[in-house]
Amino acid sequence: MSFYESFNRLKRLPFEQLWSSIREEDVRRALQADTLGERDLAALLSPAAEGLLEEIAQKAHEVTVRHFGRTMLLFTPLYIADFCVNHCVYCSFSAIHDFPRMKLSISEIEEQAKIVAKTGLKHILLLTGESKVHTPVSYIRDAVEMLKKYFSSISIEIYPLEESEYRELYEAGLDGLTVYQEVYDEDIYRQIHLKGPKRNFQYRLDTPERGCRAGLRSVQIGALLGMGEWRTEAFMTAMHGQYLQNKYGGTDISFAIPRMRPHLGSFQPNCEVSDRALVQVMLAYRLFVPRAGISLSTRESPKLRDQLLRLGVTKMSAGVSTQVGGHGEHQGDAAGTPQFEISDPRSVQEVCDMLRRSGYQPVLKDWQLW
Ligand code: SF4
Repeated sequence: MSFYESFNRLKRLPFEQLWSSIREEDVRRALQADTLGERDLAALLSPAAEGLLEEIAQKAHEVTVRHFGRTMLLFTPLYIADFCVNHCVYCSFSAIHDFPRMKLSISEIEEQAKIVAKTGLKHILLLTGESKVHTPVSYIRDAVEMLKKYFSSISIEIYPLEESEYRELYEAGLDGLTVYQEVYDEDIYRQIHLKGPKRNFQYRLDTPERGCRAGLRSVQIGALLGMGEWRTEAFMTAMHGQYLQNKYGGTDISFAIPRMRPHLGSFQPNCEVSDRALVQVMLAYRLFVPRAGISLSTRESPKLRDQLLRLGVTKMSAGVSTQVGGHGEHQGDAAGTPQFEISDPRSVQEVCDMLRRSGYQPVLKDWQLW
């Protein structure tokens, strides 16, 4: 049994009816509860909760400080290849776009690693487009083995793997996996993933579980907010996260809350997600799965990131480039096409300074590989 069975039950819920049936007292009941159920989660995401966001934020802040203290884990992505066989309408790396593709050699990755390591960061997220032909598991494994020299925690965001392949990378030194379902609405999923192996909805949905079973220490999931109706998407994501945390107690489960950003191509999201909606989603995740990490990326502006850090965020990226070879002086000519535009270009030092001014401790290392 996997989350797919639960998902098949959940997707039949009459969501429109559910949202309109929830009253303010249901939200207040969810706020008082120690352990939240499905109905409480729906209450926190409902229109009725919009007038109570201040109270919900206060509780979310308390819960976050209780479980994580006033700390913020920092990491940065390292793009090592942008070849992709999928046609995702919202991404610059889609196979449909014609631009010179890049793949770094292991020594080029090492050059990038040295630049990032100088910032003091110890957590790195290795990214590729999704092409097993251009970036096979053996290439990822070689990169992980080299990166151990510079970083104490290595995560990947690449194409979905088999459990045995995750185990191979785990044995090489990998400890984290990020994989976004993108959208939990199966019809929209088919409409925005036009070609390629990513069209297999269930295989992707089961991916975080394969990573957990392979022994990975941390697994991050998320929906790309704006693709489908955001309340339902957030509800499904939260249920997915809770399922993983209950079933795989040895794995740290975390949520990302990405919103669409400008990219090559003209696709526009189906559903607008305002800043208030983003906050409501984050607060609901925090209260429904209190021990889950929440990651806020540079897709959001410095102002919004600074405001949200007290409300439930536990991880932030800093010193970010979304280009292959984009760290350091290579930026520009020798770097690739950005996967998407970022909104917060601040360096690691600038983000650390902002956190300290806000009364938070930036954490550059909370894990050491053996
Ligand atoms: S979202 Fe991922 S799979 Fe889709 S085009 Fe971009 S890199 Fe490829």
